[in-house]
Amino acid sequence: MIIDGKKTAAKLREELKKKIIDLKSNFNLVPGLTVILIGEDPASKIYVKNKEKFAKEVGINSEVIKYPENVEEKTVLEKIKELNNNKSISGILVQLPLPKHIQKRKVIETILPEKDVDGFHPVNVGNLSSGYDSSIPCTPLGCYLLLKETEKNLNGKHAVIIGRSNLNGKPMMQLLLKENCTVTITHSKTKNLKSECNRADIIIAAVGRPKLVKKDWVKKGAIIIDVGINKTDKGIVGDVDFDEVSKVAKAITPVPGGVGPMTIACLLSNTVECFKRSNS
Ligand code: NAP
Repeated sequence: MIIDGKKTAAKLREELKKKIIDLKSNFNLVPGLTVILIGEDPASKIYVKNKEKFAKEVGINSEVIKYPENVEEKTVLEKIKELNNNKSISGILVQLPLPKHIQKRKVIETILPEKDVDGFHPVNVGNLSSGYDSSIPCTPLGCYLLLKETEKNLNGKHAVIIGRSNLNGKPMMQLLLKENCTVTITHSKTKNLKSECNRADIIIAAVGRPKLVKKDWVKKGAIIIDVGINKTDKGIVGDVDFDEVSKVAKAITPVPGGVGPMTIACLLSNTVECFKRSNS
C-alpha cells in the first residue's frame, strides 16, 4: 500500500476550512498566520509561497514579512514582539535556516509559546515530552497522522526512528511513546543500523541520506514513513529505497507526495489550534 500524503493533506485542509467557517461565526474572527522570511534561499522562498497559498485556501489570514539577508537580529526580534502583542495574529513562524548572524535559539524563544506554530519553543517541547497539550512540530505531526490512518492501533509496536533532530526524530519519539510504541531512536553513531531496522514494525526515516534504507533492512509487513527530501541527479528521492522497499513493506510513503504535503497541512492545523487556545 502506498500512503497517499497528498490525499490525506487535502482531506485535512477540507476539515480545517469547515472549522474556520465555524470559528468565524462563533468569534467573528479568523486565525491569522504571519511568516517571517529572511534572505533569498530558493527552497525557503518556495516553502513560504506554498504556506501562504494553502493558508489562504483554507481561510486563514496569512501574511509574509520579508527581510533582506543582512537584516539586524534586533529588527527581527522587535517584529516578533510586536506580533506577539497583536491579537489578530494566532501563529508566528520564522522560516529556517536563518543567516549566521541571527541566533536561532533567540528567535525561537522570543515567539510566545501560544503563537509558536512550529512547536519549537522550549515550553512546547517540554509540554510535548510531559504529555501535555502543546504545538507539535509540523513534520512529525504529519508523519503521525499518516501512520494513524494506516494503522489505528499502534499499541506495543516497535518503532525505529532514524535521525534525532529537534525538528523530526525527537518529537516523533514523543508522539510514538504516547501511542504506547516501544521506540528506538538511532543516529549517525548507531552501531549496526540495519539490524536495528530489521526488528522494526514501523520505520521513520528522517536522515537526509538518499535511499539509505534498503529492502534487506526491512521486516516483511513493516510500515515505512520516509521524511527525507534529497536532491539527486535523478530528481528528489527519500531516505528509503522506495522501489525495493515497497516490495516488502505493508505500507510506505512515497517521496514526493508522502510526508511533504502533510507538513504544510499540519502548520495550518497548528495555526487553528493556537487560535482556539487563545480564544478559549
Ligand atoms: P538533520 O537535522 O540533519 O538530522 C539528521 C539526523 O540523521 C541526525 O540525527 C543524524 O545523526 C542522522 N544521520 C545522519 N546520517 C546518518 C546515517 N548514515 N545513519 C544514521 N543516522 C544518520 O536533518 P532533519 O532536519 O531532521 O531532516 C532530515 C531529512 O528530512 C532531510 O532530508 C530533510 O530535507 C527532510 N525534511 C523533510 C521535511 C518534509 O516536510 N518532508 C521536513 C523537514 C525535513 P547525528 O545526530 O548523529 O548527526
